[in-house]
This record gives sequence, structure tokens and C-alpha cells, in this order.
Amino acid sequence: MTFTIPIDSADFATRAIRIGHHRTAEGEHSEPIFNTSSYVFSSAAEAAARFSGEHIGNIYSRFTNPTVRAFEERLAALEGGERCVATASGMAAILAVCMGLLKSGDRIVASRSLFGSTTLLFNKYLTRFGIETTYVSLSNLTEWETAIDSHTKLLFCETPSNPLTEMVDLRQLATLAHRHDCVLVVDNCFCTPALQRPLELGADIVVHSATKYLDGQGRCVGGAVVGNQKLAGEEVYGVLRTAGPTLSPFNAWVFLKGLETLELRMLAHSQNAAQLAAWLNEQPAIERVYYPGLNTHPQHSLIGNQQRTGGGIVAFDVRGGQTAAWQLIDATQMLSITANLGDTKTTITHPATTTHGRLTPAERAAAGIGDGLIRIAVGLEAIADIQADLKF
Ligand SMILES: *Cc1c(COP(=O)(O)O)cnc(C)c1O
Repeated sequence: MTFTIPIDSADFATRAIRIGHHRTAEGEHSEPIFNTSSYVFSSAAEAAARFSGEHIGNIYSRFTNPTVRAFEERLAALEGGERCVATASGMAAILAVCMGLLKSGDRIVASRSLFGSTTLLFNKYLTRFGIETTYVSLSNLTEWETAIDSHTKLLFCETPSNPLTEMVDLRQLATLAHRHDCVLVVDNCFCTPALQRPLELGADIVVHSATKYLDGQGRCVGGAVVGNQKLAGEEVYGVLRTAGPTLSPFNAWVFLKGLETLELRMLAHSQNAAQLAAWLNEQPAIERVYYPGLNTHPQHSLIGNQQRTGGGIVAFDVRGGQTAAWQLIDATQMLSITANLGDTKTTITHPATTTHGRLTPAERAAAGIGDGLIRIAVGLEAIADIQADLKF
């Protein structure tokens, strides 16, 4: 049986739990994992009809798989997109978007503060195929507009940014993109659709690293692309089924179950992060706290408007540079020293020597990544225990 309440009238929480599972004749209550690489046809004629596209149905799991499709249907419904295409990782999602929508000679305009591998993909690999990227500061719409030329086809951003939580007004950026016939792609990894739905704000494509909050417990690597039928369902899906960075059924199942608690978790992450940010703000050893939920944040007005809450990531500058930052990190006993985020477990990172370590000191300074900067991806442990583990 299929979920029958019209998608548009069901609440987010209901969609997150009910959409995507098409119950089999076994009557299973939980979504099954279809661990099969191929599918059997009832006759030679049926096989021919499937291959020719005359009959729609499963052929091979690089093309379609019922568990992967369940995750895709559910995430599409949560992001408010017509189609979702699941991928083997977040980076595979970004690669598939670029391969599906761009050709040699096209240009990308992107925000400067991107996930490190995304910058590497654009600078080292896409350039080999004649695709150049220009970088602008995320929140400066004049810079975006100035950087667009007649070859620009795609605008790409993450909001809020990592690790400084800078935000851009997505409605305005989408309007600007469309005025220049560009596609706006938003990496919605930090917020997830529980806090921010870029497609509703005018973006054309959302990409995800499902590895982070969609999973929520640090178990699997995966990703997704959400958009309309033409862009996601044809252009991006075409790359996926041909080039092959598809999602495994097991990982799809883990993410599918992760989506069921996504809203609860994102609100709990946000609540913990807001409390931590307020507390950090009062510590004399700290120079500055970066958190969208603080009313001192430059784009704080976007909270409650474009982004429901501040999210789970907090960054701050400690006085005393790298020595003080490393001391604080090394003195923790519970927090995990890892660059991953979106886990129930709180993680702590020193961006200048890890995620942003490959940048030159000048590039780091330009990006606002100081030697005393620390990023915390706030988990779901009791806030008192997280605070107790940070000894200033
Ligand atoms: C982790 C991450 C990615 C890449 O995702 P993978 O699943 O590691 O390939 C892309 N964007 C952002 C914002 C991320 O945090």
C-alpha cells in the first residue's frame, strides 16, 4: 500500500516517515533492503520492452533499485522537488550535477567558502575539461552579479558556510541567477530540508552529502541531487546511470531511516548549538563566536525567514592562536577530534590545520580562518556535559 495523503497537504514530519515505501505482498512494516544487482523478466518480450523503455521497470541496480528509490522519493518530498537522484557520496552528487549541466567553455560562479573537496573538484578537475570557476564572497550579491559573464551557466553555494556560518539571501541569489539564465545549485548539507528548503526559495537544484545529518549517526557515505524532472530526473540521472556513482541499497536504507527522525534531530542539534553559542559568547578566553542564531551575526535576520533555526555548527576564535586552540582541543575527553559533522556525537576541529590546511596562510586569512578558530559540530549529548568538556 502506498501513502495516500496528498504530498502537498501532509506535514513535513509525516512525509519524513510515510513517503517512499511501497509495501510488498509480504506486508512488511519497515522498509525492506533490496540487495539485488539485477532483476528478472517474465519473458524475452518483457526484457525487450524494459530495455527499449516501452515498459517502465527495474533492469539493473545501477539504473534503479527499490530501496534507493524509496530514499529518493522521501527526500524529494522533503525538499519539495519533483525528482531526487541518490548518489554514492556528496561529492558524486556535485560531480553528477556538473557533468549533467555543463560543457567545455561554460563557467561556474561559486562562493569562496566551500567544502574543500568541492573547491578541488572545480579547480583541479573541471578545469581539465574546460570549465572554469570564479569565486565570490557568499553574502555579497554585487560580487556575484559582477562575476557572471555570458559563459556562466551555474551558480553554486553553501549556506550557511563552513566553518564561519556566513549566509546568503537565497531568494535574492535565485532572482539574480535567473536574470542571467543561470542555474542556482545549493549544497544544503548544513541545514537539511528540516531547516531550509532552497527549492522553495527559488533555487533550481539542491545537493546533499547524506553522510552528514541525513544519516545523523555517522554510519554511511552517500549523497543526493534534488530538482525538477528535466534537470535532476533527466540530465543528472543520465550521468548517474551511465557513469555509475550510484547509492548502494544498504546505505539508502540507513538514510531512509535517518530521514524519519531528521526534524527532531535538527531541532535538538540547533537547541544545543544555540545554548553552547550563548555560553561561549560569555567566556573571556573567546574573542568571537560565529553562530547564525546569535543576534550579533551579520545575517541573523535570515533566521526564521529563510532558515528555521541556527543549525548545529558553532565556530569561535580563542585568544592565543593555534597553541591555545590545540590546548583546548587536546584537553577534551568526550568530544571527538574529527572533521566529520552531522553526528549525534559532538565533534571538534581546528580548521586552519585540517579542513583548510592546504590553503596558503594568505588564502586562509582572506577566508577568515584564523589560527585560533575552532569549529564544533554540536551533537545530541546533554549540553551541560559538552560545556564541561571545554575547559577554558
Ligand atoms: C561532507 C560534505 C560534502 C561532501 O560529501 P561526501 O559525502 O563526503 O562526499 C559536500 N558538501 C558539504 C557541505 C559537506 O559537508
